Amino acid sequence: MKSVKKSPLTLLPSQLELVRPPAPGRVELVRRFLNTRDLERSTDEIATPEGLQAWLREYRLIDRRVRLGAEDVRSAAAVREAIRGLAARNNGLLLASDDAVLQETARRARLGLTFDKSGRSELIAAADGIDGALGSILAAVHDGQLDGSWSRLKACADEGCLWAYYDHSKNGCSRWCSAETCGNRNKVKRFRERQAQAAAD
Ligand SMILES: [Zn+2]
Repeated sequence: MKSVKKSPLTLLPSQLELVRPPAPGRVELVRRFLNTRDLERSTDEIATPEGLQAWLREYRLIDRRVRLGAEDVRSAAAVREAIRGLAARNNGLLLASDDAVLQETARRARLGLTFDKSGRSELIAAADGIDGALGSILAAVHDGQLDGSWSRLKACADEGCLWAYYDHSKNGCSRWCSAETCGNRNKVKRFRERQAQAAAD
């Protein structure tokens, strides 16, 4: 089947970020981590040690002394895609998610429960460097699962997009990162499929 061509006026998922409301709490950190990879533009902000370092520093997940290497880039990408698999499940998509990667990352991060002076508990990573940073992102996933916000962190149902977005819709049934772009494109695609089917019958 011929793919539906995008008009030059169609905005990319990343271009809609300015108007897209953020996810609540620390789930927004996870959303941004997933969107370091932009499938539509074939870009990846954390594909190099320098890029990964800059991103993790920006979100205060590593301190300035930490130097990362190629192995850390591979670990971060594996964790990101495993989490994307979870976000895809939230949208009813069967995208591969490597649960073993999540398990191993949590173990290496030495995630543990701590209590502050007010008695508030928090899951924090005892490890430093990349292990601690990736563990903090997993802790943010866990926070969202506890408060129920996680189920609305979704990977766009368009498999060429998979942009991570927070479903702010009333009924929590939105499937696309944007109704105007991916939603519309898939609507046109389904319409053409039905037309082709009707012509074949
Ligand atoms: Zn999309």
